[in-house]
Amino acid sequence: MVNHEIKIAFEEYSSFEELNAADQALCREAVKALGGSHSPYSNFSVGAALRLQSGKIIYGSNQENAAYPSGLCAERVALFNWGANYAHDPIEALAVTAYTAKFVINKPITPCGSCLQVLAEYERKQKQPIRTLLYCQDGSTWVTNGVESFLPFLFFEDRLVSVPV
Ligand SMILES: [Zn+2]
Repeated sequence: MVNHEIKIAFEEYSSFEELNAADQALCREAVKALGGSHSPYSNFSVGAALRLQSGKIIYGSNQENAAYPSGLCAERVALFNWGANYAHDPIEALAVTAYTAKFVINKPITPCGSCLQVLAEYERKQKQPIRTLLYCQDGSTWVTNGVESFLPFLFFEDRLVSVPV
């Protein structure tokens, strides 16, 4: 038996002003993305913004539906838009933020496992890490350079070895 230990690393910025100018700008774009949220059931809006290498910003927001499983998270709305339309232009950074009138959000909202898995696969596809900013408008911001700190056990096909037929 072997014990393994995995360490994760992220930066925490307690004030918005501590972030560099590019990160601040992308967090503001994520706030802008909140406006596209369709969340009449949860009243919990999530906004995501991708900054591409060209400087283009791709927006995503959570989209709910009366048939509950038909909705999608903000992060994947943005990421699938990128994958379908802009994959030639690598993603440099992703910012995510949330808003609800029901609660005070005092810690960053973290992407769900499915969004992290999609983010991880696109990181591999574009062969460069995606700086990820989890921006809490009334609290701190968490930053990683790449998704593996948030999802150390990613699933990748390269773990599967073909069986000769
Ligand atoms: Zn998600």
